[in-house]
Amino acid sequence: MKKIHNYINGSLVPPTGGRYLDNYNPSTGEVYSILPDSGAEDVNRAVEAAKQAFPAWSAMRKEERSAMLLRISALLEKRLEEFALAESLDNGKPLWLARSVDIPRAVSNISFFATGALHFASEAHDMEGKAINYTLRSPIGVAGCISPWNLPLYLFTWKIAPALAMGNCVVAKPSEITPMTAFMLSELCIEAGLPKGVLNIVHGRGSEAGSAIVAHTDVSVISFTGGTKTGAAIAAAAAPKFKKLSLELGGKNPVIVFNDCNWDEMMRKTIDSSFTNQGEICLCGSRILVEQTCYERFKKEFVEKAALLKVGNPADDTSRLGAIVSKQHFEKILHYIELAKSEGGKILCGGKAVKMEGKYAGGWYIEPTVIEGLPYNCRTNMEEIFGPVVTIMPFGTEAEALQAANSTEYGLTSMLWTENLTRAHKMAAQLRSGIVWINCWLLRDLRTPFGGMKNSGVGREGGWEAMRFFTEPKNVCIKL
Ligand code: NAD
Repeated sequence: MKKIHNYINGSLVPPTGGRYLDNYNPSTGEVYSILPDSGAEDVNRAVEAAKQAFPAWSAMRKEERSAMLLRISALLEKRLEEFALAESLDNGKPLWLARSVDIPRAVSNISFFATGALHFASEAHDMEGKAINYTLRSPIGVAGCISPWNLPLYLFTWKIAPALAMGNCVVAKPSEITPMTAFMLSELCIEAGLPKGVLNIVHGRGSEAGSAIVAHTDVSVISFTGGTKTGAAIAAAAAPKFKKLSLELGGKNPVIVFNDCNWDEMMRKTIDSSFTNQGEICLCGSRILVEQTCYERFKKEFVEKAALLKVGNPADDTSRLGAIVSKQHFEKILHYIELAKSEGGKILCGGKAVKMEGKYAGGWYIEPTVIEGLPYNCRTNMEEIFGPVVTIMPFGTEAEALQAANSTEYGLTSMLWTENLTRAHKMAAQLRSGIVWINCWLLRDLRTPFGGMKNSGVGREGGWEAMRFFTEPKNVCIKL
């Protein structure tokens, strides 16, 4: 059984307390590896190593830091298949998805920020002959990066890459539910010759290792992606210490479909935005609002297509959906399906666990589920389910669609399907979400600001936003 180690001060080390957690393969429900159940002592060691490494790493020429990160990205690209297999096994996602999205994106996250840092520039403000101001942007110190299980290496690298490229040292914690590819990345960092202590990866539970990172006095900047409740706990712990915070949290994203849309494209992409990665993407649409005039047509075609999606063994290239990440999450999703029924929802397709055979009989699989007949403000339509479950609802006017779309505590993303340009611009401005996709979904330019409004987060990641976040600005004013 594979044993995962912490990566501290350049070495792979066991947890100081000697305790380990089980790591499950969601496709079979079996334990297939163990990971450190680290605590405050391990985090202290990691922070100390990062502090020691910081002076040299932050003083290094940015071209050298960039070259080091590009080396890691190239090694990852060379091992793409190995990492994709590991990600699929650890998370339950289809192998084709890990191979085509997760690992390629992790490769480009690292190379994007490695090269982006070379083009980064700070501002100057000219006071018309009186004075000139310029802004220095320096690395901050030790950054804490904490990531979730749904896009494990993808989101892990989305944080550590800008932090490192901008000259910070990092103590990172991947989700205890999907630790494998972050561990494999630590092996790559050793192979690439990353100086010791620059990146430290501490594995373990959020309540132990995660909260120790947040609480540590010498971790002055924290980038977190995960659930809204966890984000609130992190914000509460970090606020009295005045730490710089970026929080990427939950979502309950609306999809708004107008009769005038490009129908086939909308249908294809709405199936994707509902069920890709078993619906376990913070950007998935889970509330589909359909203009009354095309509601029946949408319902018939969407349900037919959803019912045809194959749920199966993640290694099988014909599986559109793989396994749900954990037993606990599997039970949570099924609980929400029961809640939807008790709120008066009608299950149009799916609604049950999938019983697999043989080796996969113990895995956690759920059918793509479509529900109708619920008001926009019931619990099923307000709370994040984070699984292959969507509701469909008719609307009459633009104003009704906007009211329903903006009605939850979340504001991560919205999808809008219409060929009416005026309506698209008008509604995009009124949708209360950090991202609006018009006639597309998950079309990502890594330079754009990424993040949510309301309880979906604080701050933005991506491009200059992330690079600025991981620096300390200082204004210098010179009187002329
Ligand atoms: P989670 O909040 O349970 O855990 C996320 C990470 O935080 C894990 O590494 C966990 O160990 C750690 N953690 C837990 N408690 C902690 C604490 N008290 N202090 C410090 N760290 C702690 O979330 P999850 O279940 O892993 O992920 C699913 C959630 O993430 C969903 O709500 C989803 O919407 C959200 N998410 C958001 C985005 C985004 O970009 N906004 C992207 C992906 C996922």
